Amino acid sequence: MSDADVQGTQDGIHRVLKQSFGFDELRPGQLEVIEDVLAGKPVISVMPTGAGKSLCYQLPGTLLAEDGGVSLVVSPLIALMKDQVDSLRNRGIRTAALTSASSPAEQTAMLEGIRNSEFDIVYVAPERFRSHRFMSALRDVRSSLALLAIDEAHCISEWGHDFRPAYRLLGQAIIDLAPRRLLAVTATATPQVRVDIANQLGMQDPILHVRGFSRPGLTFAVEHCGGPKDKGKIIIKKITERNGGSALVYAATRKNAERYATELAAADVRARAYHAGLDDQHRDAIQDEFMNGDVDVIVATNAFGMGVDKTDVRLVIHADLTRSIEAYYQEAGRGGRDGKPATCVMLFNHGDVRLQEFLIDASFPKAELLRALWKLLRERPGLGLHQLPDYELPGSPHESTLSSAVRILGRHGYLLDEGGALRAVQPKEIGGDYPEFVPEASERRADVERDKLQTMIEYSYHAACRHGFVLDYFGEERGDEVHRCEACDNCLGFGESKELTNSQQEQAESLLRVVAEIDGRFGRKRIAGIANGSDDDDRFYGMASRGSLSGTNQKDILDLLRALESSALLEQSRGEYPTIKLTRTGKKIAQGKATLDPELLRLIPSASRSSRKTRKSAAPSGNADPAATERLRQLRTALAKEHSVPSYVIFSNRTLEELAIVRPTSLDGLGEVHGIGPSRVEKYGDDIIAALADDRGRA
Ligand SMILES: [Zn+2]
Repeated sequence: MSDADVQGTQDGIHRVLKQSFGFDELRPGQLEVIEDVLAGKPVISVMPTGAGKSLCYQLPGTLLAEDGGVSLVVSPLIALMKDQVDSLRNRGIRTAALTSASSPAEQTAMLEGIRNSEFDIVYVAPERFRSHRFMSALRDVRSSLALLAIDEAHCISEWGHDFRPAYRLLGQAIIDLAPRRLLAVTATATPQVRVDIANQLGMQDPILHVRGFSRPGLTFAVEHCGGPKDKGKIIIKKITERNGGSALVYAATRKNAERYATELAAADVRARAYHAGLDDQHRDAIQDEFMNGDVDVIVATNAFGMGVDKTDVRLVIHADLTRSIEAYYQEAGRGGRDGKPATCVMLFNHGDVRLQEFLIDASFPKAELLRALWKLLRERPGLGLHQLPDYELPGSPHESTLSSAVRILGRHGYLLDEGGALRAVQPKEIGGDYPEFVPEASERRADVERDKLQTMIEYSYHAACRHGFVLDYFGEERGDEVHRCEACDNCLGFGESKELTNSQQEQAESLLRVVAEIDGRFGRKRIAGIANGSDDDDRFYGMASRGSLSGTNQKDILDLLRALESSALLEQSRGEYPTIKLTRTGKKIAQGKATLDPELLRLIPSASRSSRKTRKSAAPSGNADPAATERLRQLRTALAKEHSVPSYVIFSNRTLEELAIVRPTSLDGLGEVHGIGPSRVEKYGDDIIAALADDRGRA
């Protein structure tokens, strides 16, 4: 494009922005996306909810309509489509939505309208691409199809949390229609999902824009604590000591939401519980009270939040572990909407993991169970849900799992619920439009959910910058504060911590082997005694690792144990006699399958954990080559996936940056870089050198 074209495009964008949408300015990140879309580059845009992603296709659609172009927007949610269609029509933009909610007559009229170029923007549900009539109408206007935008594009990926099989129809539709511009937008796509989006849509060298996830005004912290009793006390303390404004408390279950709301009320806090168990009227009333300032604190399940925009939330507490970073960040992100600081605290008890695992298993039954249940109901039609546990089904499923299985079969046209009497059917027997049924999909979804939960656990135990962790997760480039922010518990407490000496690192590895050998049976003191050989219980005499830290005093070993815990290599069980065991990553290091990252393992004197002192780490000098950085990042993601470890285990961000600055060309040179020891050289050395060389070849 010539400079004049670029100028012309920019003028057009700002004119439409003002005339049709009434804004003077675009929000951060929008212009880059819109320009690339208009220039005909395939674009994947990742922006959090509320950052203005729909404008990224609405504005180009409006501009392109001036030249007679029609834009197609694929969206999975009928309600959302309706809102957008109404608002665009109010702005004078000719818009239609083609969904299963429209009557056959309406659909015919709309297809005619598309053929006659009566619309600028057409919203469509992904399932429509199955319809021959729809595809034929589109083929007729193929020459004026200016843009195909896919909203909630993560739905195309089985790795996403919202897989919609109908999205898979889009790949073929794109081949058939060859739209001149292609845009995929989503609020949530991990690197893995983004690769999948590009592949499924057949995008060649897509341009990726990730913007808007950075929320420097939010201070993140995780507090490890005991059960509900302990949590209740912490919540009351934090709420009553908060710095003005209102507060949100999120709980995993209705029961917990009620419990903490009651406890807060008993402590004279104006708090209300909010969850899906309350009727609409009741919920609306609570929401109103909160918006009007008659209530200071809402204790809610994840049912709360849609469409609530209270700007003065100063504190968001998660009383229970959430199931994904996406969910956590969205809920925590309701703090500080007015641009002023807010604090987001997650109360973490490792026992909460089991609750979430149970909920995942209950929501996504195994394929084996779905098939067996269908067969059972085929043989014995008319059974009720409560009778099902009397029959032998694979995995002896819990009632909530059975209820999910019934729902899944029903949704796909394989089961009818006739007043509580269940009957197995086939979609073709009952007719109607049902999504394709793949029983294994439920199982795969459970795997995806467990992976996401694992990342959430890693976040909870993360010993370095939490903002950095989240930005890495979403794949947004970090700003200047690559290593340290001033808005998370780890960075704020970092000044007090010390890097481990080489001999302490060796001791830490030995200590992991001691814990591996005792296999989670004992607590800290006992472990320390076995490690330095001072525990003379003859049960331990035969242990290979006994005395491997002989000569080291008890206190130093306890400090090391704490460092290993805060780095998520060890975890403590709850209860009266807590024991210490290895985490997944800790086990790998004990077995020699992974190496200890000295960046993450730091000795933090327990007394100064809450100190507010900060310290900036010395940044390596020189400039990191952006292309090399991106290439290393991709390599790290691929290696992490291949070895099933978190990416920081492959190498830390600091190491990544140094690599991109130093750009070693030999394995020896590689060994000189911070954080790259002999075992990393051996395992990943060739790949790293290749990634850097490849990049150099391109430049
Ligand atoms: Zn930080």
